[in-house]
Amino acid sequence: MSITAPGSTTHSFYPPHINNDTSASEHTSRTKRGIADTSKRWPDGIVTVALDLKDQKSKALVVDALREWAHHTPGLQFRVVDGKEGDIRISDDEGFNGNWSAIGTDAKKIPLHEPTMHLNRSDDSRGFRRTALHEIGHALGLEHEHQHPEHDINWKESSVYKAFEQDDNWDEEDVYNNLFKLPTGNDLLITSYDRRSIMHYPIHPSATKDSRGVPANDSLSEGDKEIIRKLYTPKRFGG
Ligand SMILES: [Zn+2]
Repeated sequence: MSITAPGSTTHSFYPPHINNDTSASEHTSRTKRGIADTSKRWPDGIVTVALDLKDQKSKALVVDALREWAHHTPGLQFRVVDGKEGDIRISDDEGFNGNWSAIGTDAKKIPLHEPTMHLNRSDDSRGFRRTALHEIGHALGLEHEHQHPEHDINWKESSVYKAFEQDDNWDEEDVYNNLFKLPTGNDLLITSYDRRSIMHYPIHPSATKDSRGVPANDSLSEGDKEIIRKLYTPKRFGG
């Protein structure tokens, strides 16, 4: 896997599956894996990632996050360009709100003049990079790990609905779709539930009946690396 970045620019994700990813806590655990939708896998080859981001620092953080994934996608190469034209179009335009990304090739369904991923501007470099890693995971075809069919989170659902409504202005459907709904479909690649996945929301202990939270993770878990490598091992040449 390789990344080519012309001078300064970058990469990222997008939103039809609106992931208003907030942050709350973190991940903990030793297992790995996740959930990927193989029908939304990018074909082997080059994916152009257009960066429409306000400053060089944001671009550098996004490129760095993209590179972290790229180490584990042997069948996919990323060409990073400045601007708004690319397969994956990442923007921090303040005309949009939230952190979200289209899932994999769902990005193709988005009008070309619109971003396929949005990242809220932030002075918190660590948090911004973490969010970029998560949204890039979506852009590559990964779903939320906390919605894994085998998750063992004892959600205090009513409290969660209330908290997201108050803090993030999410309606019931937003919360259900992004936190509780389990994935369906015949094209899912599912590995073991992984609380350390970058695709897992951090969970505050107060959001669970057993006060068992999940801390925020700042990098890819071993499970994230494993599933993305499975998904992007070149098809034509096997192995
Ligand atoms: Zn998400």
